[in-house]
Amino acid sequence: MDALVSLSKRRGFIFQSSEIYGGAGSCWDYGPLGVELKQNIKRVWWRDYVQRRPDMMGLDASILMHPTVWKASGHVDNFTDPMVDCLECRRRFRADKVDETPWVHYCPATKGNKFTISAGEPCSHCGVTRTLCPECGKGELTPPRQFNLMFKTFMGPVEEDASLTYLRPETAQGIFVNFDNVLQSMRRKLPFGIAQIGKAFRNEITPGNFIFRTREFEQMEIEFFVNPLETVDGRPADEYWHDRWIEDSMAWFRRYGLSEENLRLREHAADELAHYAKRTADIEYHFPIGWSELMGIANRTDFDLKQHAKFSGKALTYFDEERKEHVVPYVIEPSAGVDRALLAFLADAYREEEVRGEKRVVLRLHPELAPLKVAVLPLLKKRDDIVRTAHAIRDELSKDWSVVYDDTAAIGRLYRRQDEVGTPYCVTVDVQTVGDQAKGEVGDGKVTIRDRDSMEQIRVPLDSLGSVFRELLGGSAWASMAGRFERKGDGTGA
Ligand SMILES: [Zn+2]
Ligand SMILES: [Zn+2]
Repeated sequence: MDALVSLSKRRGFIFQSSEIYGGAGSCWDYGPLGVELKQNIKRVWWRDYVQRRPDMMGLDASILMHPTVWKASGHVDNFTDPMVDCLECRRRFRADKVDETPWVHYCPATKGNKFTISAGEPCSHCGVTRTLCPECGKGELTPPRQFNLMFKTFMGPVEEDASLTYLRPETAQGIFVNFDNVLQSMRRKLPFGIAQIGKAFRNEITPGNFIFRTREFEQMEIEFFVNPLETVDGRPADEYWHDRWIEDSMAWFRRYGLSEENLRLREHAADELAHYAKRTADIEYHFPIGWSELMGIANRTDFDLKQHAKFSGKALTYFDEERKEHVVPYVIEPSAGVDRALLAFLADAYREEEVRGEKRVVLRLHPELAPLKVAVLPLLKKRDDIVRTAHAIRDELSKDWSVVYDDTAAIGRLYRRQDEVGTPYCVTVDVQTVGDQAKGEVGDGKVTIRDRDSMEQIRVPLDSLGSVFRELLGGSAWASMAGRFERKGDGTGA
């Protein structure tokens, strides 16, 4: 994890928020390369799930909603953690986690010397176990109290109870309250889904582990509505679709680079299920911090639509033409965190390799996710014609892809830099490309393309560059491309 955090900062992926002021608790900013990576994750998700599916539509609901939404959803009453407060230093802890951190102890058996003792252990001098505040070691803790995780705010200029509302803790409710709008305007038949990508906010008491758990985060959520009266393959439609979504979601993460052995499915036990859920399965990823939730796929039944119908007084039903009756659809909810997905993709892509006795750090990101697709590098930056050609290539390719020009170091160093941020291909322009007028040599009009993963190089005519990259970045394997062009020696950059 330390290697990822350090790379992220050094290479412009992720910065601590408000760093010059000492940072803001568990808030992170995406830098120039981080924002590209994040946009790419969201773009392929939207393309695969919304654009390419006939049974899906998009939505972008506002973050601030009518406060009754959160009454109806159960968040006002139930979205809480039991907390204890220190009466001395005022720090707040989750009641169920307070014994999971090392604790500070002023030991009476050693004239009040201060010790920091491992989580859950008694003092080896006096034998007491922790009862006081684990941080300051002095204060009594209050009995547990329920603490709501929603961020409160006020609509309008007056800070009074009537204007109290919340930053949404999930994007899902924006979809539920728009169910009828989408149904009426788009005239779809069940089953269909509504997808949304957007920010959500939770005032977590113990956030951390880099971007794994943050107070402000982005979700990619789908509410997939099914007719509970229907069956598919002899099974209730909701159960069938739940399985389909689990398989689809798992396959999606694998397609963009997460390795099979780092992914697993975990079913929620009956006592762990949210009260509205019929079944929930988490896709877990083997993060640097251990196996943790990457996304959840829940069968929320008809709970949300029924709750909003009850609180709003509006019918949120679907008319089943075949059976001539109104039904409240069941909903399957595949819900993924963008930030968490980004962390998983980064972690899985990160490699430290040895190339000719030197360490090479490489992000083997899927080309569709890589922040930069191509780097154009002039072999000699003192030669005007080489530099001009390189700029022209960058200008041309950047009409379609994010492409960078770099001449700030020797070629070996430039390759390493691109490897480290996951750029799949480098293009170098050299004397051979442009020729040497002084010597009367004519250029061959070809450039070198170097592949990040194999470090192989091929010579490609300038006028084929566009079509070659269209194939490579469209998913063609390097090996099949390399076979069609002249090979060039070593691209290790050593
Ligand atoms: Zn304290
Ligand atoms: Zn002691």
